[in-house]
Amino acid sequence: MPKHILAVTLLFALMTTPAITAAADFGPSNPFYAPSKLPYQSIPFDKIKDTDYQPAIEAGMAEQLKEVQAIANNPAPPTFDNTLVALEESGQLLTRAASAFFAVAGANTNPTLLKIRSEVAPKLAAHRDAVFLDPKLFQRVNALYQQRDSLKLDPESQRLLKYYYDEFVHAGANLSEADKTQLKKLNEELAGLSDTFESKLLAATKDGAFEAKDKAALAGLSDAQITAAAEAAKGRKVEGYVVPLQNTTQQPDLSSLTNRGTRETIFNNSWNRTERDNANDTRDTIAKMAQRRAQAAKLLGFPNYAAWKLEDQMAKTPENALEFMGKIGPAAAARAATEAKDIQTVIDQQKGGFQLQPWDWEIYSEQVRKAKYDLDEEQVKPYFEMNNVLENGVFYAANQLYGITFKERKDLPVYDSDMRVFEVFNADGSSLALFYTDYYKRDNKQGGAWMNNFVEQSKLMGTKPVVVNVANFSKPAPGEPALLTSDDVRTMFHEFGHGLHGMFADTKYPSLSGTSTARDFVEFPSQFNEYWGEYPTVFQHYAKHYKTGAPMPAELVEKIKKSRTFNKGYDMTELVAAAELDMNWHVLPATAPLQKPDEFEKSVLEKDKLWISYVPPRYRSSYFSHIWGSGYAAGYYAYLWTQMLADDAYQWFVDNGGLSRANGDRFRQMVLSRGNTQDLETLYEKWRGGKPTIDPMLKYRGLEPETAAK
Ligand SMILES: [Zn+2]
Repeated sequence: MPKHILAVTLLFALMTTPAITAAADFGPSNPFYAPSKLPYQSIPFDKIKDTDYQPAIEAGMAEQLKEVQAIANNPAPPTFDNTLVALEESGQLLTRAASAFFAVAGANTNPTLLKIRSEVAPKLAAHRDAVFLDPKLFQRVNALYQQRDSLKLDPESQRLLKYYYDEFVHAGANLSEADKTQLKKLNEELAGLSDTFESKLLAATKDGAFEAKDKAALAGLSDAQITAAAEAAKGRKVEGYVVPLQNTTQQPDLSSLTNRGTRETIFNNSWNRTERDNANDTRDTIAKMAQRRAQAAKLLGFPNYAAWKLEDQMAKTPENALEFMGKIGPAAAARAATEAKDIQTVIDQQKGGFQLQPWDWEIYSEQVRKAKYDLDEEQVKPYFEMNNVLENGVFYAANQLYGITFKERKDLPVYDSDMRVFEVFNADGSSLALFYTDYYKRDNKQGGAWMNNFVEQSKLMGTKPVVVNVANFSKPAPGEPALLTSDDVRTMFHEFGHGLHGMFADTKYPSLSGTSTARDFVEFPSQFNEYWGEYPTVFQHYAKHYKTGAPMPAELVEKIKKSRTFNKGYDMTELVAAAELDMNWHVLPATAPLQKPDEFEKSVLEKDKLWISYVPPRYRSSYFSHIWGSGYAAGYYAYLWTQMLADDAYQWFVDNGGLSRANGDRFRQMVLSRGNTQDLETLYEKWRGGKPTIDPMLKYRGLEPETAAK
């Protein structure tokens, strides 16, 4: 399964800041001063200097605070328009500046931007508190909420009222002044710790790169991979070869490196990247974060952080999420044990003379795959040239399902010259959105893949969506084609699924637009979109050899199909293990002592029978960026939860004729365009005609007991 995180859209959730120091250097010459004049109000990257962000963000916080205070102090009695609509319209400068800043700070960063991020992160947290802990403002929202039944609001406005009321209560608006002060302090500290974690992790990941003077250490890599390693060394001005770390525990090159010592070193570099007792060690940071989060949850009246976090999610409680994972864990681990046996057999047949270790898994499983399915990723890659997959695969599927078309625009500024920009049109020719891609790995880019909005759709604000997909696909040597692995292809479809959720947004209020939904829903459209990458008519349309244009031979397609559930035991086990770690860190009560991350990790996984020597978790606690850096705390289970939804939804398409405009349009209308304007469980069930079940998930992921026994 692909690596992906979703950098959740900013807007109200991240806007913010009280005690602003003078934004003296902010004026009309700042590119954020006025709304962008570019099409779709997109971001004028060519006009922005690093030094423009901070003054704009700080002025934006000050401006919004003034707007919010005016709403709170309005002598007129509260109405929906003078309170909630006014809140939705506040903070436009901050939204402009913060959207651009966080996009660039994540995907194209540098020491200046990192420093700014450290400085503004706690201020933004404090700003958010200043809004959501304002007693006069809460009084108005609360008054409206109490008379909600007599206000005669349309359903989307009703939902907005509930959304704000929940946000206020969730942020602690009902707390005493003393508790509010303490919560503000905790939130600021947490924002700072999170930023420390991210900065350490970026440095640790860079430091963890494998370096070799001697080419022999890289035996087994293809010529292209060795060239890439030599290029990476050149980029860092070191002798020889460099294999940079990806952000997951397992590293892609471990599937082909034949030198066991190299594999062990690369694996350990990855596994220990943030546990070296040096400046980049994150263990104290995360232990403190877990404790502070539990303390914040207690103040808010919850037994633990997860209980607070899940209250507005589809799963509702940590118990429900743990129970759901409890059903998948054993099936996945049983399947992984079978896979491990197959691998050990190969090692023994080759007289390896060792027990399977995690650094052996990828290369030997690749051999098992070849033996069982005779499928070699290197044979497959020439059929997956990046731009072809995008235009004839990802775009084609979207055209077949939803009728949308794409036109490349070379006139819009980008922050990296490898980026591409497309204008997207509805079937009737009307303009829909802008779509940017930033696909290549760079040292100054956060790991993984994600989507975010440069501009959020909103009828109230008169804005159409501007969306970017970011990934970390290997950049080829100059003049060579960018050939993707099947995992990369899935990642591209996945992120585009988020993209569609953002681009089809058709809502009035920006806070409810597009991907601004619960975490255990937001990965559903993206995981669902992965299915179209494998759908026969779509696959045939893009899987063509980059040199000859020949379609992928039927035999190879058949092998890919058969190998689809291959290694699923490992994949699901590492995922469930990471999700269990996340949830267990966040069900700690406030009274629990500071944890020792290594011991804690081991005890959690042992308890769940997921401490399996050959299947380490997909992320170790100390480099689990999703939960300490990017807002997925107590939310990583959501990937599994939304897999259930995606599989269940795909089953509906299968049962109703598969890929068609009628099915696509219905899905767009009832799900993808709705954002968070309805209760998500209800929205899903209305579209599906019933509750989701776990059965399609077990079937499509190869985890049915019969399959596992084979
Ligand atoms: Zn995603």
